[in-house]
Amino acid sequence: MSIQEENFWAATVDSPPVAASSELPDSVEVAVVGGGYCGLSAARTLAKRGVNVAVFEAETFGWGASSRNGGMVLTGMKLPVPTPIKRYGIEVVRKMYSASLESIDCVETITREENIDCNFSRCGHLEVACKQAHFDGYEESAALIQREFNHELRIIPKKELRNEIGSDIYFGGMVDDASAGLNPARYVAGLARAAQRAGACLYDHTRVERVEATSINGARKFRVYTSRGDLTAREVILASGAYTTEATPALQKKIIPIGSYIIATEILPADLARELSPRNRMIYDSKHFLYYYRLTPDNRMLFGGRAAFFPETENTVRQSAEILRRGMIGVYPQLRDTKIEFVWGGTLDFTLDVMPHAGKLDGMYFAAGFAGHGVAAATWFGAKLADLICGDPNDIPFDSIKFPAAPFGLRSGNTWALPLAGAWYRILDFLT
Ligand SMILES: Cc1cc2nc3c(=O)[nH]c(=O)nc-3n(C[C@H](O)[C@H](O)[C@H](O)COP(=O)(O)OP(=O)(O)OC[C@H]3O[C@@H](n4cnc5c(N)ncnc54)[C@H](O)[C@@H]3O)c2cc1C
Repeated sequence: MSIQEENFWAATVDSPPVAASSELPDSVEVAVVGGGYCGLSAARTLAKRGVNVAVFEAETFGWGASSRNGGMVLTGMKLPVPTPIKRYGIEVVRKMYSASLESIDCVETITREENIDCNFSRCGHLEVACKQAHFDGYEESAALIQREFNHELRIIPKKELRNEIGSDIYFGGMVDDASAGLNPARYVAGLARAAQRAGACLYDHTRVERVEATSINGARKFRVYTSRGDLTAREVILASGAYTTEATPALQKKIIPIGSYIIATEILPADLARELSPRNRMIYDSKHFLYYYRLTPDNRMLFGGRAAFFPETENTVRQSAEILRRGMIGVYPQLRDTKIEFVWGGTLDFTLDVMPHAGKLDGMYFAAGFAGHGVAAATWFGAKLADLICGDPNDIPFDSIKFPAAPFGLRSGNTWALPLAGAWYRILDFLT
């Protein structure tokens, strides 16, 4: 079989997630911009709490990062915890870390309650050290996380690493058994169906073009202009992630959209698959310019990384296939003659401080900046925004931290400086 420039996960979902609701209403209580995990999770919670909610998705539900990712449902945050502790203090980071654990429970609960057939499994994750210095840091990290957050990570010395991974290139590893894996496209499709079942109206192929604050009979409202007409909403949630456009400029200028690419091999013989990943972990390495990889439920090796830094285009996807294949063989020489059957790309929503953020911008609720932790985080943040709108107290720790704008040249819609950022991270990987 030859290589397909196609998302393997999308090929496992039979039908479009949901049929579009028909006519646009004149008004809704809450309008959600974007139909990925964040927007759909918010809509599901709102609808279950009796709120009249509509989700507008420019493409099809789950079309963005939510159907293209590695399906790793990870504990922790993108940044190693000492960095946020230094920035925000231990008390707030304790709440952030606890949110990261709660967010995995949140995904597990949704998949169980909504009967979503997406291979959710608490298989744990394994971080592997590319340098001795990285491995030396694991002991300290694990001790800090145990002491401050009462959460256990296990250190795997090099001599025991073969129990975790069929590769000899690493200096050791660190395992977190609380992390999970799933099929992301099936999960987002199930989430869309669940939101719709709960009563949310879902509009696909409906791009939000502009949102204006307005006042009706003295009450503050929003006028939402879409490619299929306009409507009034009491509240708006921006859940457009890395694909945020000039339709919502206040959020757009905070997002740094970074491309990430994935290949999937042909189906591997069961004994080879077991050799490569004996415990079926979600695996990533310790570099800035990292590789992440795992087995798929049908035993393909799925191998991803930032092969190109730009958001995905036909060209970057094609170039990435060979770059990633070379990376994969570097880790697993056993796969030298294995065929690559799928390659695809997607865009991650980074922020300048590499932290997720939530709160209000221009009077609208938003959550963004999930980077490589969005499967769990976007689901959790969406539900939390819904709770806020329903009047629950604000217990989102990420709401209280400053949200810096992205520098010109890195921000969504204007990314000419991204290759420089990529080069900088490569230099860091060389030096540290
Ligand atoms: C290749 C790749 C691998 C990844 N791997 C992992 C992983 O293994 N684990 C992990 O936790 N995270 C991973 N991530 C990150 C994770 O996928 C995202 O953080 C998460 O899906 C974000 O969800 P979201 O709902 O915020 O955004 P998205 O799923 O991107 O949804 C946003 C949606 O908004 C729509 N939209 C944008 N503007 C408008 C508009 N004006 N009107 C209407 N609709 C609009 C877009 O079409 C899009 O569908 C990965 C991401 C990529 C790209």
